[in-house]
Order: sequence, then C-alpha cells, then structure tokens
Amino acid sequence: MSAGEAFVTLATTDSYCKGAIVVARSLQRHGTTRSTVVMVTPNISEQSRFALKDVFDEVITVDVMDSDDRLHLSWLGRPDLGITFTKIHCWTLTQYSKCVFLDADTLVLCNVDELFERDELSAAPDPGWPDCFNSGVFVFRPSLHTHSRLLDHALQHGSFDGGDQGLLNSVFSSWAAEDISKHLPFVYNLSGSSFYSYLPAFRQFGHNAKIVHFLGAVKPWSSSSQRDESCSHTMEQFVSLWWKEYLSSTPSSEAGKQQEIQEG
Ligand code: UDP
Ligand code: MN
Repeated sequence: MSAGEAFVTLATTDSYCKGAIVVARSLQRHGTTRSTVVMVTPNISEQSRFALKDVFDEVITVDVMDSDDRLHLSWLGRPDLGITFTKIHCWTLTQYSKCVFLDADTLVLCNVDELFERDELSAAPDPGWPDCFNSGVFVFRPSLHTHSRLLDHALQHGSFDGGDQGLLNSVFSSWAAEDISKHLPFVYNLSGSSFYSYLPAFRQFGHNAKIVHFLGAVKPWSSSSQRDESCSHTMEQFVSLWWKEYLSSTPSSEAGKQQEIQEG
C-alpha cells in the first residue's frame, strides 16, 4: 500500500456522481492499492453523497466560490470556466504526493496502478489533435504552487477550448515533444472516436484497452444501452460493461431509492 497516492475524480452533478461511482468500483474491482478520492460541489444531493461515501475513501467538497477571493471575482466574469476551476482544484490535494486524475466518464478495465510510476504531467494523446493530451486521464503532483500557476493562467488567458483541457495543454505545453515517458499509451484513455476514425486499429488493439473514456455529449448514464442485449459494437460492449458495474455497485443507493419509493 502506497500511502500518499490516490486516484481522483470529480462530480459536480448527480449524473456525474453515477460515473464517479463506476470509476471507484472499477478501480477496486481490479485491486488498486491506492486511495480513491472524489471531489464534489455542495449542490449534489444527499443521496449521491451517501452513495459516494460508500465507495470512495474520501469525498472532498470543493466550494470554488468561497475558497478564493480572486477566483470568486473571476467566476462572476467567466462562469464558463466553472468546471475547469473545479477540476484543477485537484492540485490542492497536497495530502497526497502523487495522483492520477480520471474523468467521471471513464471505466477502468484492469489494474492500472503502474500509472503511479509516471511523473507529472503524463497523459495520453487527444484523438482529435494528438499533439495535445486528453485531460480525461492524467498523472499529476498536487502542489499549491502549481495550482496558483494554473489559476493565474486561466484568469489571464482563459482556455483556448473553454475547458480544462485547453488550459492544461497551455500550461504543460512541453508535453508534446519533450519527454516521451509522459505520453501514456492510448489504451489508458481509449475513446469511441478511435472506433469511428480508425476502425482497423480499434479491431487490432481495442482488446488491450485499460481505461475506456466515454467522452462527448452522450454518456453511458444518459443512454439506454443497458437494455440492449445484442451489443455488436465494441463501444456498445463497453457501455454494457459500464452498466453492469453501475448496477452491481449501487446496492445502498438503490436501497435508498426503494425506500424513498416506499415512503412515497
Ligand atoms: N464534470 C462534472 N460536471 C459537469 C461536467 C463535467 O463533474 O457538468 C467533470 C466530470 O468529472 C467529467 C469531467 O468534468 O468527467 C470532464 O467533463 P466531460 O467528461 O463531460 O468532458 P468530455 O470528456 O466529454 O470532453
Ligand atoms: Mn470525459
């Protein structure tokens, strides 16, 4: 057990909490020895918070509005950067020496603890622009100094894509060419777009997937694929797998729902 290392995810809505639960359960299913941490905003429901507490080692409430005056002011002017500011809050988790951030829309398919052998900032290429990294999976070192740098950069320059990925790629701009060990293999952040843009490679290498990332507008929890028995596409199979993990891992929250129904 490496104390001081953690997988970290983020959920600012009840929907993303469903994804976060699957992140934690899939990590645990594959025997992670690291801590699991979820950052949440105060607006999530009691029921979601309860379900998260069940599966995560730590549920950390981040209230970006109150935590920093500078941020509060900028928030008023730039509400679009809200989620971004919340995500980069992960750099304040200085009780950990090293972390791996996983988007709440990822599914872990095997033990990926070897990611902690990598240094900041390690990430996989973005399928849309491979000289940028995708910020759905990345290795980082919590540091208040780095957090400040990220905030300052966001306040001064915003983000070229309006989200955390643009900001992080601007700040960690040496990623593309400096050190190949910071390039995670694509199988650590496999997204559906590869299925559509390079099907032969997907067929050849897709079975090596270690972490699947459901990036884009349609998330597993917003689709109805759990009822689809005849999953022909591999991506659909991953969605099925997501549902299997979700339904197998929510006894207490499901019980809570049942109770609510019964109590009318
Ligand atoms: N997120 C969140 N609430 C939101 C949007 C995003 O908590 O309303 C978090 C969540 O962890 C999510 C991550 O930010 O996985 C990045 O957003 P998303 O995965 O939707 O972006 P994509 O990967 O599709 O570009
Ligand atoms: Mn994502």
